[in-house]
Amino acid sequence: MIKLYLLILLVLWSGMLQAQTKQRNASPKKVSNPSWVKNIPADDVVKWRHHIHQNPELSFEEENTGKYVEEVLKSFPNIEVVRPAKTSVVGILRGAKPGKTVAFRADMDALPMQEETGLPYSSKVENVMHSCGHDAHAAMLLGTAATLSKMQSQLKGTVYFIFQHAEETPPGGAVDIIKSGVLKDVDAFFGMHVLPDFPAGHVGILPDGAASTAQDVFHLTIIGKGSHGSMPHLGIDPIVAGAAIVSALQSVVSRNVTPGEMTVVTIGKFQSGDAFNVIADRAELAASIRTTSEPTRKQVEARIKEIIDNIIEAYGADYKLDYIPTYPAIQNDANLNAHARKSVVAILGKDQVFDAPMMTASEDFSYYREIAPVSFMTLGIGEGAANHNPKFAVDDSALPNGVKAQVQIILDYLNK
Ligand SMILES: [Zn+2]
Ligand SMILES: [Zn+2]
Repeated sequence: MIKLYLLILLVLWSGMLQAQTKQRNASPKKVSNPSWVKNIPADDVVKWRHHIHQNPELSFEEENTGKYVEEVLKSFPNIEVVRPAKTSVVGILRGAKPGKTVAFRADMDALPMQEETGLPYSSKVENVMHSCGHDAHAAMLLGTAATLSKMQSQLKGTVYFIFQHAEETPPGGAVDIIKSGVLKDVDAFFGMHVLPDFPAGHVGILPDGAASTAQDVFHLTIIGKGSHGSMPHLGIDPIVAGAAIVSALQSVVSRNVTPGEMTVVTIGKFQSGDAFNVIADRAELAASIRTTSEPTRKQVEARIKEIIDNIIEAYGADYKLDYIPTYPAIQNDANLNAHARKSVVAILGKDQVFDAPMMTASEDFSYYREIAPVSFMTLGIGEGAANHNPKFAVDDSALPNGVKAQVQIILDYLNK
């Protein structure tokens, strides 16, 4: 009886094994493995990223980063280096055969914050940190340039590798590079941003049309009247007026904008006062406003101005307001997006490509659309803190896939 039981078990087990093998054979991974993949300098990409990460520089101050990127680019064959702005670097690779011109863009600036990752290659600069992953962007694009530079003799057309300064601070570095005229012949622009909470190395194709938000900024100075802390009736308290403004502005999104339309009003700065027993005479506020459509952008601006004006009047204070429109929303071109998706699926496989939701952030990559159509995508870097958080960290294992995707997108575009 026991023997029979064991026999039945054995038959069942071998049947299961066969079924599993069949299942594996039925869905082989359709991923191409071109010969250039072995030329990707994966270790160097990590080394370059760690160097840039340890030596972060703020927007418009990327002098050493620019120099470093220029030196690395010049170590590759066939790359011509130009400096379209003080701290930006563009590498140009002209293929042996004529063809189209395609550009891939990386940014290189860091943010004014203290790193708290505890990583061995943490920032060496106090209060400056690569917390948006621009170190990864620059390193990956160097990897892409290195890989493609060895294929010059087969290459049809021209590739521009844009290492852009000052993405984080409006008016942004993109406008300087565009103004320089260096990119005037580019037929298509691609860009890639690292994003946590998606599997490391998975590429997200952002929506056609609005792929990010437009950003407007305001700086508000509330002018009150200083007084002794025990004699509030003799002063005009700018902190109380400012607090009322901050509270009232929360109603713009919740009570004025159509529900469901992505809009953000964030007061990121509120500074006033020096002592506990003094009524300050001034308060400084600054805000970031994100919208996805032009009518809402105008509606929100009008509401914010009304609220500030009326509250200031009610509190008997005065004010100075600078309302500054900055980056428009990225408008992804549907054809370029389809092209990017096809290339990335071909090189990484379908299971490593996903539909990314629209980004709530804003990006000056949007400006390149003044020259040619654009496609912006994301690269997953695994679970972790959000961009602009002091604990933000990039999983290095994501970087080779980023390079593979970039190289394939460029090659396919030029061979189209
Ligand atoms: Zn950022
Ligand atoms: Zn960024």
